[in-house]
Amino acid sequence: MNKLSDINKDFAQWYQDVLSEAELVDQSPVKGCFVFRPYSYAIWENIQKVLDKKIKETGTQNAYFPLFIPESFLKKEAKHVEGFSPELAVVTHAGGKELEEPLVVRPTSETIIYYMFSKWIKSWRDLPLKINQWANVVRWEMRTRPFLRTTEFLWQEGHTAHESHGQAVEFSKRMLDIYKDFVENYLAIPAIAGIKSDNERFAGADRTFTIEGLMQDGKALQLCTSHVLAHSFSKSFDIQFQDKDGNLSSPYCTSWGATTRLIGALIMTHGDQNGLIIPPKIASIQVIIVPIFKEEKDKELVINKAEEIKNLLINNGVFAQIDNDDQLTPGAKFFKWELKGVPVRLEIGPKDIEKNQVVLVNRVEQDKTKKKQFVSIDNIDKEINLLLENIQKSLFEKAKKRLNDNWYQADNLNEIAKNLEEKNGLYQTGWCGLSDCETKLKDYKASIRCLLDSKKNKTCFSCGKSAKTDVLVAKAY
Ligand SMILES: [Zn+2]
Repeated sequence: MNKLSDINKDFAQWYQDVLSEAELVDQSPVKGCFVFRPYSYAIWENIQKVLDKKIKETGTQNAYFPLFIPESFLKKEAKHVEGFSPELAVVTHAGGKELEEPLVVRPTSETIIYYMFSKWIKSWRDLPLKINQWANVVRWEMRTRPFLRTTEFLWQEGHTAHESHGQAVEFSKRMLDIYKDFVENYLAIPAIAGIKSDNERFAGADRTFTIEGLMQDGKALQLCTSHVLAHSFSKSFDIQFQDKDGNLSSPYCTSWGATTRLIGALIMTHGDQNGLIIPPKIASIQVIIVPIFKEEKDKELVINKAEEIKNLLINNGVFAQIDNDDQLTPGAKFFKWELKGVPVRLEIGPKDIEKNQVVLVNRVEQDKTKKKQFVSIDNIDKEINLLLENIQKSLFEKAKKRLNDNWYQADNLNEIAKNLEEKNGLYQTGWCGLSDCETKLKDYKASIRCLLDSKKNKTCFSCGKSAKTDVLVAKAY
């Protein structure tokens, strides 16, 4: 048995256990700051590779802006500073002296980027301007949990400026679609798209689009967001351009981001009692090859064959590795790679070689009769590709089923409160749009995760008056 806490009884502890046992993160000496060990950083690198390509396909270019921002910059946009000031880390001393103006360690880069945009944008010909950066940001969080909420985290933040409000809204939505597609097709996490309520939207945004996921304990997790900033920053930073009629105009801006929180999301969506499950399309190791031999005389034969298969798979674009660790028994290796969530294990021994076959073990399959299959070495590349595809698909379907099973319709606050206490979950209900009704959810540690594009419910869950829209209510990370 492994050392993981019971996933059904203590999900929070299971999460902490899996992070350390599977060697994903380690504590640093600074509270709330965590070390990404190679195995989790490799997942982040794969996320970056795919997302970066998709971002560039929109005509967005990567750039890099400084970590330090003059404190006065944050104060230029009133809502922005109000939203972020409790979380800011501020540098007051450097080079052995007190600084004339304190520098803020970026919590996000709107202020510095739009300051630069004001220098770069002069005419309608300069628009749209689309910039993305991959960076770290710092928000001084009181309660932290690796990947989900940390003082320093990694992300990409995209910032664009457009001629019209319509173009900004359209681009902001396009980015949300890209995130949804990525999260669903690569991380195998079904995502619910919607709009944030006024209380929950980004500080300085006109509108925030979000995708939300459901974790295995029935709590929601915000996955990615995209904001229509409209004129807020372009006016505070005096970005002006000459429009097609020769008049001076302010551009409409957007910003959008995906963070290392996505790693937390995939752990909490797919993991099981045996450990992590990494979806094949994002796994840094898709196939782990375990050579099995009892006698030293068979070692060379088995290792050579394993090498041959590994090279064949790598040449076919599969991330395969051999576990040649002499210190571990095959059983210990099986256990280790199950814990690390590698989608496919390939076992090979002298008898298999005689029969020109290998054993493929599916990390996801629960049915013992289907978990293992014997495959001819001649078809190995095709069989592996098929298996990886099936695993990717089955992970998404399983998560989608869980989402549907835990998505309830609710009429009123009492009903939501009672059910939330019993089983968490997502509650679709009607809302009048008033903040007073929304804040009542705080008593139950719940919130409006997003406004849905549907109007099934006629009355507000709280006041009973006419509903403006359907919303999704849940407890969230
Ligand atoms: Zn109401």
